[in-house]
Amino acid sequence: MSESESEVPKVAPNFIHEIIIADLAQGKNGGRVVTRFPPEPNGYLHIGHAKSICLNYGTAVKFGGQFNLRMDDTNPTKEDTEYVDSILEDVRWLGADWKDHFYYASNYFDQLYNYAVQLIQMGKAYVCELSEEEFKEYRGDINTPGKPSPYRDRSVEENLDLFERMKNGEFPDGSKVLRAKIDMADPNMHMRDPAIYRIRHSHHHNTGDKWCIYPLYDFAHCLEDSIEGITHSICTLEFEIHRPLYDWFLNVLDTPVKPQQIEFARLNLTYTVMSKRKLLELVKGNYVSGWDDPRMPTICAFRRRGVPAEAIRDFCEVIGVTKFNSLTDIALLEHCVRDCLNKTAIRTMAVMNPLKLVIDNYPEDLVEEMEAVNNPENPEDGTRKVPFSKVLYIEKEDFMENPVKQFHRLAVGKEVRLRYAYFVTCTSFVKNEAGEITEVHCTYDPATKGGNAPDGRKVKGTIHWLSEKFAKEAEARLYDRLFTIEDTSAIPEGEDYKNYLNPDSLKVVKCLIEAPLADAAPGSRFQFERNGYFCTDSKDHIPGVKPVFNRTVALKDSWAKLMKKA
Ligand code: ATP
Ligand code: MG
Repeated sequence: MSESESEVPKVAPNFIHEIIIADLAQGKNGGRVVTRFPPEPNGYLHIGHAKSICLNYGTAVKFGGQFNLRMDDTNPTKEDTEYVDSILEDVRWLGADWKDHFYYASNYFDQLYNYAVQLIQMGKAYVCELSEEEFKEYRGDINTPGKPSPYRDRSVEENLDLFERMKNGEFPDGSKVLRAKIDMADPNMHMRDPAIYRIRHSHHHNTGDKWCIYPLYDFAHCLEDSIEGITHSICTLEFEIHRPLYDWFLNVLDTPVKPQQIEFARLNLTYTVMSKRKLLELVKGNYVSGWDDPRMPTICAFRRRGVPAEAIRDFCEVIGVTKFNSLTDIALLEHCVRDCLNKTAIRTMAVMNPLKLVIDNYPEDLVEEMEAVNNPENPEDGTRKVPFSKVLYIEKEDFMENPVKQFHRLAVGKEVRLRYAYFVTCTSFVKNEAGEITEVHCTYDPATKGGNAPDGRKVKGTIHWLSEKFAKEAEARLYDRLFTIEDTSAIPEGEDYKNYLNPDSLKVVKCLIEAPLADAAPGSRFQFERNGYFCTDSKDHIPGVKPVFNRTVALKDSWAKLMKKA
């Protein structure tokens, strides 16, 4: 589906905007605002990334600034062009427009190398040969200051020589690293001579085999931001403690542009996981059918499931931007999805759990075309004709042999409205040998055509139906939460989070649909009245041949009431 819903995300006022407004008032950065979204192409983007995209892009637009999309591809072993392509597609689909500001961090490798050489020349970096265990041991911990590496006082010449030879491929992986020379006793562990370059003899998706040394995140990221002229480098709270290091590199190297790092709370959602490592594991282990399995929290999965980009943008606006980590109820996202689909989705009748209904006094071969409203929220969507005949299907749940008190649907002796058609009164039902109800019999009132009685009598229930002769069969995929546990971060360390996967997260059922729906293009969204919002699957739905519908979201909405109150 090549849907481009290019509306700009709205960002609710937040503390980052206050910072920017103050900066602009002071004439900082020459009045420019440049933000970026810097994904590492080591997996598909998820709904948490959507928050960052909407924030960074929406902020740039709000202040008439520039938005860069940068592949933060400094680790060759995990990155792939498949991920790059998916990121481009997802960011575009969300509506964020990077214009011609698309960059690869790996295209700065020469500049980053030169910056590292400069650090060495200043006596602010050295080649260290401690093993990984020794490195950790020398670093100390929060309560114990680190101790200097025995390689810390190498001469500039020796360091320059060794670093060049690292670059030239003379040493095996892991045998040496380049470290910044800062302070082994700094209370902030990140300042204790962090590694800034390591040896990795690996092919890189963009630079091929040109490099066998790669810069590490803390060193590379601030310089990438600076090279691109980023003014406000927005990242998640975990990086707050890295900020002194971010600033240290910029100050020591005296870069012409000194971006300001600002941290915000990442999005965490109930009943799912958001770490790319875990998502990759679910894909690789076939716990799901792929990155775009509609149960995944990835953007491509939401798209496949039928979630409009607009709903994701609305959600990101509603959750806002703060400095406090929290867990957002996935029901809030579902509320935004319903809210959006309610305005746009064409209504149709589909029967998920069919029970035969025979209208005994309806002529055997008569077929009438009933006029149905396509979308009560949007009169421009018009009406359609739905064929009606003697034998219909209704939902099993719409009939009760022994109706409970508040049951206003079908039961013997009760009258209901068949949506857009007639009033019918139930006269009897048929059971099979197993005691299951297989057929319901009714009579209809010909005077109630269209669903209203001329004598003004009312019925309490309206149910949907399909004609046995004209309905088509389709596959419906009903999705539920991916995990059984609300807060997956509460799963104890050492316990396998996969133990909490919901075994009932996917149910595949046969249902009946209005015939024209079988021909719908992949990625078409509908409301199945009283049943939920559905979308034809972008991969498995073959128009006219094999109709497959994903349930995007059920109709029940616990948030709607809460949002109204607020
Ligand atoms: P990992 O899952 O390995 O921690 P990551 O989420 O950090 O990966 P990146 O590709 O580095 O993945 O993220 C790109 C950007 O998206 C970063 O700026 C990061 O701060 C932001 N981001 C990632 N996850 C979230 C989240 N849950 N909420 C908001 N922003 C996020
Ligand atoms: Mg990251």
